Amino acid sequence: MAKVPANKLSFKTCPTAAIRAILMKPTTAPQATPRTYRVKSFGCQMNVYDGERMGELLGERGIVPAAEGEEADLVVLNTCHIREKAAEKVYSDIGRITKAGNKAGKQPLIAVAGCVAQAEGEEIMKRAPAVSMVVGPQAYHRLPAMLDKAVRGERSTDTDMPANAKFAELPQRRKSAPSAFLTIQEGCDKFCTYCVVPYTRGAEISRPFAELVEEAKRLVAAGAKEITLLGQNVSAWSGENHAGHNVGLAGLVAALARDPDLARIRYTTSHPADMDEDIIEAHGCIDKLMPYLHLPVQSGSDRVLKAMNRSHTAESYLRLLDRFRAARPDLALSGDFIVGFPGETEAEFEDTLKIVDEVGYAAAFSFKYSPRPGTPAATMDGQIAPEAMDERLQRLQAALRRDQWAFNEASVGKTCEVLVERHGKKPGQWLGKSPWLQSVWFEGDTAIGDLVQAGLIEAGPSSLGGRLV
Ligand code: SAM
Ligand code: SF4
Repeated sequence: MAKVPANKLSFKTCPTAAIRAILMKPTTAPQATPRTYRVKSFGCQMNVYDGERMGELLGERGIVPAAEGEEADLVVLNTCHIREKAAEKVYSDIGRITKAGNKAGKQPLIAVAGCVAQAEGEEIMKRAPAVSMVVGPQAYHRLPAMLDKAVRGERSTDTDMPANAKFAELPQRRKSAPSAFLTIQEGCDKFCTYCVVPYTRGAEISRPFAELVEEAKRLVAAGAKEITLLGQNVSAWSGENHAGHNVGLAGLVAALARDPDLARIRYTTSHPADMDEDIIEAHGCIDKLMPYLHLPVQSGSDRVLKAMNRSHTAESYLRLLDRFRAARPDLALSGDFIVGFPGETEAEFEDTLKIVDEVGYAAAFSFKYSPRPGTPAATMDGQIAPEAMDERLQRLQAALRRDQWAFNEASVGKTCEVLVERHGKKPGQWLGKSPWLQSVWFEGDTAIGDLVQAGLIEAGPSSLGGRLV
């Protein structure tokens, strides 16, 4: 399938006239070097990782995060292009920031990063003069140099896609939450017909083994107890280990598990086509690999899956899950779903409900199909009316909510390890994660970063109540 260059992807016109008027106001004059920054990340966990790394780069320059409620001198909008709504958010955000700046009598510098930056590049500069930097996901290591230009009043765009170049330029990890993200793989060669990722993030690239072991070590030294390995297709990761052998994701997980101070490993997002016997076995024999698998199916209809260019069928997906469950019987399953793909009939949508019933997901993400400019599905016949999509999404989400609640209820009575991540809403309350990625709240004598044993005593639709044991 031919690739559509990112700069050929067109974009929608701006949502409201008021925002358009703000966007078109001329801007950028020389400014003082910013003292504070705010990175606002939209979309997937990979953006959260990139947002943290951009923050670290700015920190090296002595620029500190803006305090809660304070207007930052520099705002980085780390954008998502996966669905139309996500992509449009950037323009309304620029409008809002500019309006707040007008009110405060001082405009912050604005950088647009992430996948909208990659897809729309110079178009953002044309549409939004308030923006002084547009930087793609593979080029953000050059953000400090762009910032120097912005301070001089120069606007710049960098949507270059050098493979893996940024990682060597980023500062060492010095701070970490108890649960940390680590990007091990970027890009995608799968070309699902609805998806922009292969255009905005480029081809599948794995970060080198040694670099990842080193970054994981530093995250653990900085306080991480759990690391979630990230990739658009994390299961496509491969690399050469210290002994010079080529290994896949399972080999990397096994190597990271050797660190005695790292308690938990997760990975996301996998593609059914890349799941091999090694990773299935790893779930059975590496205790630190948590019993949770996010494996998107998208649809339960084989015709729709084929039109999506997914390489699995409903049956092959289910048999793959059987193999995982045989290796790790308490595995919690999660998935992604799209309703209203072009041509999806009512019967085909019901096939998706059937697969949901059959699997019994512990968690899931479900979306209405959103036509993305430049992708094959955007021009397919049989685009589904928004009302039909709404109705299907509601039915699907009701089924997914039912199953998530049932999974939580089935956990009541178990005692499990909980990683304490933050304070809860009520005084004295803590919030943490079970091995099955459920949120667990409880009270008691503990601290953020502790791994505690908790009895699960109460189930809600999206969390559980626990008691320290
Ligand atoms: N690589 C992963 C996979 O294929 O399983 C998914 C990565 S994608 C960033 C996250 C999810 O966004 C997809 O699994 C899909 O459900 C959803 N998605 C992607 N493109 C979409 C579109 N055009 N409309 C609606 N949902 C979309
Ligand atoms: Fe997008 Fe995932 Fe398909 Fe790649 S595998 S094209 S990231 S949905």
